[in-house]
Amino acid sequence: MVNSKIGIIGAGPAGISCSIQLKRYKLDFLILEKDQAGGLLKNPFLIENYLGFPPGIRGEKFIELIERQIENHKIKIIKDEVLSVTYRNDKFYIRARKDDYRVSILVVATGTRPKRLKIPVDLLCKSRIFHEISPLRKTRNKIIAIIGSGDAAFDYALSMSKYNKVVILNRTGRVKCLPVLFQRVKQNKKIVYKTSIDIKQVKWANNKLVLLDNRYNNLIVDYLVMAIGREPNLNFFSKSLKEKANRLKRENKLYIIGDARNGLYRQTAIAAGDGLRAAMRISKKWGHTIKETKIKGTREKGKKNIKNKRDKIKKGTEL
Ligand SMILES: Cc1cc2nc3c(=O)[nH]c(=O)nc-3n(C[C@H](O)[C@H](O)[C@H](O)COP(=O)(O)OP(=O)(O)OC[C@H]3O[C@@H](n4cnc5c(N)ncnc54)[C@H](O)[C@@H]3O)c2cc1C
Repeated sequence: MVNSKIGIIGAGPAGISCSIQLKRYKLDFLILEKDQAGGLLKNPFLIENYLGFPPGIRGEKFIELIERQIENHKIKIIKDEVLSVTYRNDKFYIRARKDDYRVSILVVATGTRPKRLKIPVDLLCKSRIFHEISPLRKTRNKIIAIIGSGDAAFDYALSMSKYNKVVILNRTGRVKCLPVLFQRVKQNKKIVYKTSIDIKQVKWANNKLVLLDNRYNNLIVDYLVMAIGREPNLNFFSKSLKEKANRLKRENKLYIIGDARNGLYRQTAIAAGDGLRAAMRISKKWGHTIKETKIKGTREKGKKNIKNKRDKIKKGTEL
């Protein structure tokens, strides 16, 4: 069992931002991540709305910078997947794949998980169906179908069209993405955008996926990406923790931050801001620890300076 005062689950923008600020307060914490640091940022084609990057920045490049920042702050991310969290006797008990952890304050920054399309799918097709594009980054000269009509579907299409042909399948005629993404897709000759196509089944034939739609048409592709929405990723909360969650939030012991709590407002800057705020609220709760460190450090430095000055005056090197 690993003990720490503070635990953070998830090292996406929200969790990392929280950890950097906690580090600045010199508060001890542990941070658990099941995958690569940076979270969903491994997907975006171009992040244009995060301050400080005038031409925008690619998701992968952004992650590189975040990794450098983590290194500079000497933050050690524990690679472990949280399976369940319970709360008893004033402590959170985190059961993860490799180890168990016990903390007094818990920050949950686990983002979202994709919604699944409930249609029949042949078993062999499963390895060719994805909900994010990061595993397909190295794919070249293939046909990729993307189901969805929001920002993620259009953003994924732009990323994948660099080396492949892409077809976006929208169930309705309504587009939910940003106008700028729609415009870019329309101008891109390697992306076909189809409306009123409702995929009902996915079959396997001749090493390809066969998508059967509502009009009994077949569409043959190499890969399928489903981008039909996301929901908060909090399914590892035990039943009793779910019941106590609101009280623990009010008592400043439990913080749910970033995409995991932001509904439609799922943006990097908001997630990072959430992380910062959580760390500041935690530091307020543990304020006495911070004050002690500050006063101790400043006084000792001050005393040393006065002594140095006295010595110099004695030696006649300073008037
Ligand atoms: C295609 C696409 C384009 C986007 N474009 C933009 C954009 O242009 N501008 C913008 O501001 N935002 C954009 N976003 C949104 C942005 O990526 C998210 O808002 C942001 O990443 C949310 O950060 P987060 O830390 O809350 O969650 P996430 O980034 O989802 O991070 C959650 C982390 O928790 C980890 N985790 C989850 N469960 C567990 C577990 N059980 N145990 C351990 N670790 C766990 C995950 O592995 C992940 O690393 C885009 C997203 C997508 C998908």
